Amino acid sequence: MAARESSSSGMRGVAAVPSYVVMQPTTLCNLDCAYCYLPLRAADRRMPVSVAEAVAASVNPWSASGRFSVVWHGGEPLAAGREHLAALLAPFDPRVEHHVQTNATLIDDEWCDFFVAHQVRVSVSVDGPRERNGDRVTRGGRPAYDRILRGVAALRRRGLPFSALAVVSRPTPGLAAELYEYFLDLGCDVLGVNIEETEGVNTRDNAHEAADVTAFWAELVAAWRREPRIHLREVEWTLRYAAAVLDGVADDVLPRQLDPIPTIGHDGSVTVLSPELAGFTDPRYDDFSSGNVLETPLAEILAGAERTPWVGEFLDGVEACRSSCPYFGFCGGGHAANRYFELGRFDGTETEHCRNSKIRLLEGVLEHARDHQSPAA
Ligand code: SF4
Repeated sequence: MAARESSSSGMRGVAAVPSYVVMQPTTLCNLDCAYCYLPLRAADRRMPVSVAEAVAASVNPWSASGRFSVVWHGGEPLAAGREHLAALLAPFDPRVEHHVQTNATLIDDEWCDFFVAHQVRVSVSVDGPRERNGDRVTRGGRPAYDRILRGVAALRRRGLPFSALAVVSRPTPGLAAELYEYFLDLGCDVLGVNIEETEGVNTRDNAHEAADVTAFWAELVAAWRREPRIHLREVEWTLRYAAAVLDGVADDVLPRQLDPIPTIGHDGSVTVLSPELAGFTDPRYDDFSSGNVLETPLAEILAGAERTPWVGEFLDGVEACRSSCPYFGFCGGGHAANRYFELGRFDGTETEHCRNSKIRLLEGVLEHARDHQSPAA
């Protein structure tokens, strides 16, 4: 099949080499958050070491030619246990950077030793102060907040830097400033903010008033500008785009090809572009996977990823976005899983997710800029 990307048409295809891979050491999570999208989080299906060895066979050569990351993302990756996670890390070249996305509830001094020994960067999922964490509960339905803070305290005690990822279910006035203050105190060095998404097994509605979401982002950028001590992921993306527009190089912001972001499931299956599709099936698309590393090298699977039926449909959707959406230069066409779970197909365009997290993000930053522009000279 001919590659879809062509410099003459500007059409975007899927790159054959990713900048990182996501790996699922176990499907199990010890929490049961209300908004979680994962279908198998009550089951402990662990990744065999043979899967990690197969992934490393492709990843190690990639890491020789530049920065390359493996993101361990479950379930709760620490639920796989230190011994098993160490065995999964072992096949990777020391140049590969390892990251873990964790609910922090299992972090203790032994885990901190593990992070130091294996040079693992930690990102903690927490939604703000105690009263904002009502959706983050144990399997018994009890609040997880104290356990999360115990894990964060262990990281801080040991001086380990960490990122934080917060989910916002309802953007309301005052919330963004409150969250920013909280995360300044928490001690993270990077903060990502996700507006809750309707995807996977989470069917909760994510439609909000446009003005509320725009105001949320405007308030967040204002709080950050007052005290920009931490990297604020979404705001920094947006400011980079705005600077590129002002410099007349906006066309250079999006990579020429989509990063395939392969997610390696516990069983070795490879799902490209959207980790949230892993583990789901649909009679039209089968199980969304593009292959299995136990049968085919990862590099070979990615080289042929565009032949996966739903991926071609998604690329048509990206082109539909390009021709219809004024925000395309910033967004690049959104995420496959949001289209599928909101629209039931991959070749649609606008979703509630892209309104909340792309369109209104950009509008919020611009609103802040308009409200704070210097008086005309
Ligand atoms: S904002 Fe939405 S409609 Fe516009 S390019 Fe992104 S995904 Fe497509």
